[in-house]
Amino acid sequence: MGDGGRERILRGIPAAGSLAFGTIVRDAGGAGAAPRKAGSPAEEVRALEDAIARAGSDLDLLIEREDELAAGILEFQRALLDDECLVDPILAAVREGAAAGAAWTAALDREVVEYRADGDPDFSARADDLLDLRDRVLAAFGPGGEGARAPVQGGLWVGRELTPSGFLALDWGAFRGAALAGGSRTSHVAILARARGIPLVVGLEGLENGIEDGAAAVLDAEGGRLILSPSPETVAWARRREASLAATERDGARRVGRPAATAGGEPVAVLVNADVPEGLAAVSAGHCDGIGLVRTEFLFSGGARPDEEGQLAVYRRFLEWAEGRPVTIRTLDAGGDKPIPGLTVDGESNPFLGLRGLRLSLARPDVLRVQLRALARAAAGGPLKVMVPMVTAPEEVERVRALLDDVVAELAAAGLPHARPPLGMMVEVPAAALEAAAFDVAFYSIGSNDLVQYVTASARDNPAVASLADPRRPAVLRLIREVAEAARKKGVEVSLCGDMASDPGMLPHLLAAGLRTFSVSPATLGRVKAAIADWRGGSEGA
Ligand code: PEP
Ligand code: MG
Repeated sequence: MGDGGRERILRGIPAAGSLAFGTIVRDAGGAGAAPRKAGSPAEEVRALEDAIARAGSDLDLLIEREDELAAGILEFQRALLDDECLVDPILAAVREGAAAGAAWTAALDREVVEYRADGDPDFSARADDLLDLRDRVLAAFGPGGEGARAPVQGGLWVGRELTPSGFLALDWGAFRGAALAGGSRTSHVAILARARGIPLVVGLEGLENGIEDGAAAVLDAEGGRLILSPSPETVAWARRREASLAATERDGARRVGRPAATAGGEPVAVLVNADVPEGLAAVSAGHCDGIGLVRTEFLFSGGARPDEEGQLAVYRRFLEWAEGRPVTIRTLDAGGDKPIPGLTVDGESNPFLGLRGLRLSLARPDVLRVQLRALARAAAGGPLKVMVPMVTAPEEVERVRALLDDVVAELAAAGLPHARPPLGMMVEVPAAALEAAAFDVAFYSIGSNDLVQYVTASARDNPAVASLADPRRPAVLRLIREVAEAARKKGVEVSLCGDMASDPGMLPHLLAAGLRTFSVSPATLGRVKAAIADWRGGSEGA
């Protein structure tokens, strides 16, 4: 490696996994939808029926072979193939003379538009699955080839998009990771990759500028980078990182099923972060102490406006998964690096300092009210807590409390089952961290991702200032220690749910700062518990 020209770094968004060495395998494009000549209406009907049948048996095989999470995603596609309301009108159009492939494509594209416009979060997430199904059936018009990319040992799959079945069709015993120009952290592909620990970067920039098949590369999925023709220094860094990841992985696998405790035997609570319920399918609730952060932004992705019932159904799924353990659900944290069309403000000069998080929710009480109603109704079914993000001043919490009082009274008047969930806050704005004791809340959860960016004045999405945005800076650790101390004095629970807690190297600092509750990315549970078990006390600069 390192001899194929100068090192070049393409940047994207970390979506799953950690690190992989390999050689670039570019998407060959066109998932087997070979152009075909339309026949008579009777031939076209038969061609479509055959393609649907073949796609159906391919799906059956995949569902049988794959794990529960993947099977759940594919079963939706399988059910659609049996859905007469979908298939019959297409067959009718083909009988009338439409070409089979064109009629199928047009109908599925219409469905996609409807799913995306519906506003229900589950529906808009399913739109990608519909596109996947569209292409699967189109590919099945062909002579019966597999359609899957031949496995390339040590390959890093690079392309514009990857569908869930495209992902499952790749041989992950041979491929080591993937980088996509499109995609998002909340797509089904990202969920599948996270559940399997496969390194994935999405939103990769510069893909069109001459990336050659077979080029050596390092996929740094934690840093959201694809490094082409890595220099000897980069290779050495990546090898060291790989070795330390492998060691923590081995240790973590031994630890994951045991309760977390320090070397001195002090118990530590480790909860998990979640965004979509499917993301927890590969995790056992018995391996953690509950869910410490549900990011609800995904419900609104692509501009969706989930109604009360839609949200209620999703919140209940988290409670069911947790089997009686506490579940902390955060109200919408849109804005900054998480714009939502039609909701967040376009063209703010500095979105990270603008109308984001709770500020936006308070400016849109219509949206917040629906979310609080759904949360209070879900709270009737288990230990649900509500958390508000981006809090700056105590009066913001008071405004939410008043709204929560209001919706609870409304639900009582309507005779709907509900409970009043405890109200806590994220501590991620320096003003709130410095004044934590002044807030009247049931719990604090430190959002280190934002706290670091605001304390160091270094945007979290700007790689040029990444070295300044170091969570180990004394100023950051001091604030964390002060929040932990303020909470202890007040007798209020405190945890940390930012990415810092998912990094085993940071745990000694956080434990030294006095924290004993963490919420981490599910894939890191074992590693985090191992780092906690190794901690023997000490100041670690905190
Ligand atoms: C944080 O800021 O640390 C946090 C957990 O919230 P998010 O990353 O969603 O902003
Ligand atoms: Mg945050």
